[in-house]
Amino acid sequence: MKVTLVNTPIFSTKTPPLALGILTAVLKKEAINVKLLDLNIKYCKEIMELFNKRKISLGKLRRFGKEYVLNSIIMLMVLDKKEEEYGVFKKVYKKIKDDLEGLFGEMCDEILATSPDVVGFSVLAFQLSFSLMLAKLIKERRPNCKVILGGADMLFSGNKIMETFDFVDFVSKNEGENMLPAFVRALKYGNYEKVPGLLFRKKGRIIENPRKFVKDLNKVPFPNYDDLDLMLYNGGEPIFFIEGSRGCLYRCAFCSHPFVSPKFRHKSAKRVVDEMEYLQRRYGANYFFFSDSSINFDKGFLRELAEELIKRDLKVRWCATAKPLGIDEELAKLLRKSNCTSLQFGVETGSDRVMKDMNKGTTVKIAEKTLRTVHKAGIVVGIYLIVSFPTERLIDLLKTFLFVLRNRKFIYLTSVAYFQLVMFSPVYNNPTKYGIKKVERLCPYQRNVFDDFFFVKGHEARNELIPKRALRKLFELLSNVILTSWTKKKGVDVKSYY
Ligand code: SF4
Repeated sequence: MKVTLVNTPIFSTKTPPLALGILTAVLKKEAINVKLLDLNIKYCKEIMELFNKRKISLGKLRRFGKEYVLNSIIMLMVLDKKEEEYGVFKKVYKKIKDDLEGLFGEMCDEILATSPDVVGFSVLAFQLSFSLMLAKLIKERRPNCKVILGGADMLFSGNKIMETFDFVDFVSKNEGENMLPAFVRALKYGNYEKVPGLLFRKKGRIIENPRKFVKDLNKVPFPNYDDLDLMLYNGGEPIFFIEGSRGCLYRCAFCSHPFVSPKFRHKSAKRVVDEMEYLQRRYGANYFFFSDSSINFDKGFLRELAEELIKRDLKVRWCATAKPLGIDEELAKLLRKSNCTSLQFGVETGSDRVMKDMNKGTTVKIAEKTLRTVHKAGIVVGIYLIVSFPTERLIDLLKTFLFVLRNRKFIYLTSVAYFQLVMFSPVYNNPTKYGIKKVERLCPYQRNVFDDFFFVKGHEARNELIPKRALRKLFELLSNVILTSWTKKKGVDVKSYY
């Protein structure tokens, strides 16, 4: 049985795909013939450059971004829509149709050249339509080859995909480590009932098996990237994702992470550093980004991690996202000594009232103190902000702006996101509690196309006094002008830290 695991565009080109690296290692350990193929690293740039190559101006579609437009067009292609059914995408579609068909042909050739019995796609956000198009082409050319889609987004769209596309044989809603080997074994006999989290067809019905979580993350093997040319990532300096934990201890109102991975588990600090050491030895890794929801889930873990890194003197740089709380001066210094170069904090707002509504589990004062302490220790601080949370008023937005202004000397970058209603987040589950009176699709253009399979929804809040996008843009601009002028003054090259 030959398995080919595929990473499709559009994904980061800075980092090799961690989940597929782990699954490759899991299958190899079980002596299953597996090939890891990263089509993203090879095709992403070329695909994104189609717009320049064909001199395409997005006009009023600009606010959705190229990725969104591409995904909508490819989804229409997957659905075999006629040209007149492309609506607002028709003009762009006509210009890039031939290029896209050529590129998909090439990508499909590459997959089939590995002579797979089964092809697995790891799907995250904009990878969805690319994976579906490739699945369709594979089944047309090699009907006996089985296709399975996995990844966190399958929890949202997996059932709909199985109902709509008969060229997708299976969907996995499970963590791959204990699903994939069981699935490959089951393929021989067609007995899928015991494969955790698997969706499959039986007598015209779609059956969904219960999920089963990996109990001990310490037993997950180190990722295997032997099939990849790592020099292609991030200009020859790949950033390696590293995983300390799965799930999240918190329950922020706008986030669905606890739904995706309801059980919080973590590796031992020693196990994490073993993996870093292994990746350094085998692949020359010297820069790591923790994929954890927050690296400071436990002070003891964080301290041990730093001490272990200092003890082994690996000289690797690392960065992570963190909750803005619980890092004192001593711990911050220890983190810096262990070569932590940057921490990005989910502050989200400068208003205590909104912070409470968001269930952030911290306060503006604590957040402020944390990021100042971390900055003082010599670690680059970034913050995430969310604008237009449903209960946010103009005064709250002003407070957020003042937060940035007050702390401009301690923050190097702000990442501002416009609030999005994410399926199965607490706000989605209980919209009226947050003043939302109507939930609707994000964009009328995509009706029945992309949004049907995607988890972002639009909303209308009762107290929505803030002119949304214009204000967010203004806010983003102002915060970055403030921060950039400060960092320039200090001669700091922020990019070198990321
Ligand atoms: S936003 Fe971060 S800290 Fe909050 S629930 Fe989601 S993953 Fe956890």
